[in-house]
Amino acid sequence: MIRSNILILTLFLLACCKLYAQNSGLLNLKYEDNYTPSYYEVIDMYKTLDAHYENAALVEMGNTDSGKPLHLFIINNELEFNPAVIKVQGKTVLLINNGIHAGEPAGIDACLQYADDILRNKDGTASILKSTVVIIIPAYSVGGLLNRSAYHRANQTTPYETGFRGNAANLDLNRDFTKCDSENTKSFTRIFHEWDPDVFLDTHTTNGSDHQYSITLIAPQPDLFPPLQEQYLRDKMLPGLYEGMKKGIYELIPYVDWFYDDPRKGIQMTQEGPRYASGYARLFHCYGMITETLIYKPYADRVKSTRQFIQTLAEYVSANSEEIRETRKKGIEETLALKNYPFAYRLDSTRFEIIEFKGYEYFNNQLSKVTGLPRPGYNTSELFTDSIRYYNEYMPTEYVTVPEYYILPQAWNRVVERLLLNGIDFYRLKNDTVLEVEMDYIKEFSSPERPYNGHYYHENVVTRSERQKVSFYSGDLLIPVRQEKMAYLIEMLEPKAADSFFRWNFFDAVLDNREYFSSYGFEENALKYLEEHPEFKKKFQQKRRAEKEFAGDHLAQLSWIYNNSEWAEESHRRYPVGRIFHKLNEEIFLKE
Ligand SMILES: [Zn+2]
Repeated sequence: MIRSNILILTLFLLACCKLYAQNSGLLNLKYEDNYTPSYYEVIDMYKTLDAHYENAALVEMGNTDSGKPLHLFIINNELEFNPAVIKVQGKTVLLINNGIHAGEPAGIDACLQYADDILRNKDGTASILKSTVVIIIPAYSVGGLLNRSAYHRANQTTPYETGFRGNAANLDLNRDFTKCDSENTKSFTRIFHEWDPDVFLDTHTTNGSDHQYSITLIAPQPDLFPPLQEQYLRDKMLPGLYEGMKKGIYELIPYVDWFYDDPRKGIQMTQEGPRYASGYARLFHCYGMITETLIYKPYADRVKSTRQFIQTLAEYVSANSEEIRETRKKGIEETLALKNYPFAYRLDSTRFEIIEFKGYEYFNNQLSKVTGLPRPGYNTSELFTDSIRYYNEYMPTEYVTVPEYYILPQAWNRVVERLLLNGIDFYRLKNDTVLEVEMDYIKEFSSPERPYNGHYYHENVVTRSERQKVSFYSGDLLIPVRQEKMAYLIEMLEPKAADSFFRWNFFDAVLDNREYFSSYGFEENALKYLEEHPEFKKKFQQKRRAEKEFAGDHLAQLSWIYNNSEWAEESHRRYPVGRIFHKLNEEIFLKE
C-alpha cells in the first residue's frame, strides 16, 4: 500500500516536472552569465529536445573537417522529417545556420533558446509551424567550436570563452560556399539542395562599428535578384522584417557598411558574392541573409536580439509562406527567359534613401590607457540621432549572352564533383567529337602574393572570345544552361564572375605553358619553318629591319617565330569551358 502510494506520488512528481519543464524550458542556457555552450553541450541540448518532443528530430548530415558529423535539427508540427514529403505538402522551409564563425556564437544560443521556446509553444510561437518547417544547423564549424579559448577574439570581452574563426582545416567557412574546399561545405551543400530552403539565415557578430543597435542585417541584395523577386524584397519582405522587429525590444538596422569614413555621410547596402552564405543562397533564388550582432553589446543582448530576429523572420515567413514560394518560382522563370545574364554590379552612388541612424559620437584623439597615446573610438555616453543616406541600389556592369550549353571536359573533375553536389543536370558526349564552340582566352589577371583561404584568388580578369573547332572526348560534359540552377551554372562557369571556379584556381593549369623552345634546340625547326613559309619569313624579316632591338635579340626572334606559328600552344591560357549557342542533335550525347 505504502509502496503504491510512493509510486503514485513519484509519477505525480514526474508529471509535474515535465509540466514544469515545458513551462520553463528544458535547457539550461547561461548566456546571461556570459557563457556559451561547448560543441558537445550544444549537441547534448538538441538531443534533449529531440528526446522530449516527437515533432523534432536531430539528424546527422554528413561529415565535417574535424571528422565529427554535421548535425541538423528539424522542427515540424507533425512526425514528418523527410524534405521530399514536406515539400510536396507545400510547406515553406526556413534554414538557420549557426557557428560558421565559432567565435560569434550568439546564434548558437539564440537558436537553442528559440527551439526550446517554440517546441513548448511559448507565447503561441508554435503557430508558425502550420505553414513552415524550421531547420537549424546547431554548430557548423565543428572544428572551430572544439578549439575553444579566452584568447581567440581580441576585440570581444564576452562570452569569456569562444571557438576559433578557422575550422579544423583552418578555413573561413564563410568564404567556402562556392569553392567548397571543406567537408563542412560539402555536407552543407547536400542539406541545402535536399531541403531547398526558401529563406536562409546565417548568424554572425561584428566589430566593424559601434552604435546604439545590438543587431544589424545584411539583407539579400534586391538588385541581384530577377525583377519580381527584387520587387518583392524591396517592397514587402525587407520592410516587413524591419517593421516586425519594432514590435520587440531590439530595433534592427542595415549592417553598417561605411560609404565614407563617417556614418553621417551615409552607409551602403552590403553586397555579398556567392562565396558567402547569403550570396550562395541567391544563386538558387533563396532569400538568404545574415545577422550581425554588435560585439560591443553585452553577450545576452546579442543572443536575445538574434532570438528576436529569428522569431520575427519565422513569423514573416509563415505569414507570407505562399508568396515567398511563388516569387521564388517566378524568379526562376524570369532567369530562364534571360537572353543576357548580368554577372557583375556596382553601387549606384546617385541613388539612396534616408534612414534614421542612432549613433555614438566618434573621436580620434582620446588617450589610450594602454599606450598613453591618442586612439580612435566611440563615446558611448554621447548619443546622437541623425538622418543619413542609405545607398542601397546596385547596377549591372557586365553581362554574358546566355549560351545553349557549356561544354566541360571531364578532365576538370574537381569542377564536375561540385556541379554534381549542387544538383546540376548534364549530358555526356557519346563519342570523341570535334565541335565548333566559343572559347575564352585569359588575356590578363592578377593574383595576390600570399594565399587567401587556401587559394590565390584571381582579380582583374580580362578575356577575349574566339570561335574554334575543339576536340572533346567521349564522356565530356554537355551542360544545358537553361535549367533551374542556371544562375549557379553561369556564375560558376563564366570565368569573370566574382566567385567563379576560374577565380578560385580550379583551372590554373591552363595558365602556364607545357611545351617550350630552347635557344639552341629550336634552330633547325625554326629555319625549316621560315623556308617553307615565305610569307611568314617576309613578315619576320620586315620586323627585324624595323626594330633594331628585336634584330639584336636572338631569343626574342625565336620567341616571335614560336608564338606566331603553329608551335604556339592553343591551350595556353585557353579557359577550357566552351560555349555553344545552338541546339545540338541529340544523337551526339547520352542523357544521364
Ligand atoms: Zn562572422
